[in-house]
Amino acid sequence: MFEVLEADGTHIGIFCSDYFPRDGKRSGAWSSSFRSQSNIGGEFITPFVYNVGNFAKPTADKPPLMSMDEVETLFHELGHGLNSPFGNTVYSGSRRVPRDFVELPSQIMENWAREPAVLKTYALHYETGEPIPQELIDKIESARHSNQGFMTVEYLAASFLDMDWHVLTDTSERDVAQFEKESMDTIRLIPEIESRYQSTSLGHISSSGGYSAGYYSYIWAAALDADAYRAFKETDLFNKDLAAFRENVLSMRSNDTMT
Ligand SMILES: [Zn+2]
Repeated sequence: MFEVLEADGTHIGIFCSDYFPRDGKRSGAWSSSFRSQSNIGGEFITPFVYNVGNFAKPTADKPPLMSMDEVETLFHELGHGLNSPFGNTVYSGSRRVPRDFVELPSQIMENWAREPAVLKTYALHYETGEPIPQELIDKIESARHSNQGFMTVEYLAASFLDMDWHVLTDTSERDVAQFEKESMDTIRLIPEIESRYQSTSLGHISSSGGYSAGYYSYIWAAALDADAYRAFKETDLFNKDLAAFRENVLSMRSNDTMT
């Protein structure tokens, strides 16, 4: 549990995390809140945000040792979480973020997770406390683009599948496997690649999370976050003067649960 403070010490919210799996817990990672920010009649209510993950648990002789993927997921969900304490709205939920945009604050954080200067501050050897060696940082960097073509296509295939279900106007019963095949044939998916998800396991397709007909938003936001991150790369990774990022991005919060 963390209290989130302004630089001058003003309380702006509570952040708590639930990072380890346990019996009965849903899989995956997401960000949501117990209490939303609002400011009705001059009464400023600060938010209570939480991040959930299912990361590697500590063992009897080792602390929790996370993979690079898990670290990126942690940074990703933290980005969603930061949307709330920086929010400044009158009515709770009155400034919902368009789905096209909702992954920008989360995905931009993944850039910092991989930055050598940032890695050296948190990726410390669990026994010696030594920062991660440059050799490993170089490996992370060179592995980053490995298989990106395949990964992007399998992601896009699932995005098309999601959209194909949502543009249906004929609601008669249909065979799911046949529908998927037709959907993938339309985009001429090559047999070497499969959609990242089958319809019955693509949670984003259903309306519950707000991503229905919006699975594409991750790649749309990737274009936006690459552009936004450039503003930091071109100046300073820890540029506190880039206030526009807080005002125009992080303060635009969403009350939906985000994954
Ligand atoms: Zn997300």
